[in-house]
Amino acid sequence: MFYVGCHLSSAKGYLAMGKEAVKLGANTFQFFTRNPRGGSVKPLDLEDIEAYRDFAKENGIGKILAHAPYTMNACAADENLIHFAEKVMTEDLERLSFLPEAMYNFHPGSHVKQGAEMGMQKIADMLNRVLSPDTNTLVLLETMAGKGTEVGRNFAELQGILEKVELREKMGICLDTCHIFDGGYDIVHDLEGVLSEFDHIIGLEHLHAVHLNDSKNPLGSHKDRHACLDEGEIGINALSAIINHPAFADIPFLLETPNDAKGYQKEIAWLKSLYQGK
Ligand code: FE
Ligand code: FE
Ligand code: ZN
Repeated sequence: MFYVGCHLSSAKGYLAMGKEAVKLGANTFQFFTRNPRGGSVKPLDLEDIEAYRDFAKENGIGKILAHAPYTMNACAADENLIHFAEKVMTEDLERLSFLPEAMYNFHPGSHVKQGAEMGMQKIADMLNRVLSPDTNTLVLLETMAGKGTEVGRNFAELQGILEKVELREKMGICLDTCHIFDGGYDIVHDLEGVLSEFDHIIGLEHLHAVHLNDSKNPLGSHKDRHACLDEGEIGINALSAIINHPAFADIPFLLETPNDAKGYQKEIAWLKSLYQGK
């Protein structure tokens, strides 16, 4: 099954996002759990969640992706920032427990000159405080572009976090095509090589979502600037090879391209026309 969608505004709630997704031709979507640059959150509306779940079932919407705010830094130098990240993630996972179809994606963090080793340890420590055997949401680490002191700039750093998490079965990876290309993984000329490296270091079975973006900058530039499909350095042929690769079968593809609704609708239709499976 091919699951494709895009990032949507969560301002009007879950049912509204489901309807918007269907209107755009999508069968999955991503949204921010709260203000991405702050932390404030709306009261939880369980009726809206129930209405959304019925609507999703009727309309064939599959797994969806909740994105944590950017202000979360689990490996900050300042303890208060780590506490903030821990509080936000704990609250987000409590709220998402009512919506088991959603996975939770977050940026591992920035080590702000403490070093990547310290960063990985602090992130894993926070996850070990937040996750419990009752957690019913899969938590995904996003592959990062390696801008500044971002942790998760390569597969080894992501694995360095995962291997320190006690409840590792609660964790997985969201692969961002723009970010890994920016990180130096040549998905244009050597997709097989990149995937076999991922498999060797992390394991492809831990891959649960893809952010499908083109990149404004060339391979290895560590800048993190998304481009619309085929308007960047990755190009539509490489992105088409990805959506058709068996390693990504049944994994949701989420667009985070600089688009309005019309643009997303066009890109979703394009990807569906490029998908060769059933
Ligand atoms: Fe992200
Ligand atoms: Fe992303
Ligand atoms: Zn990005």
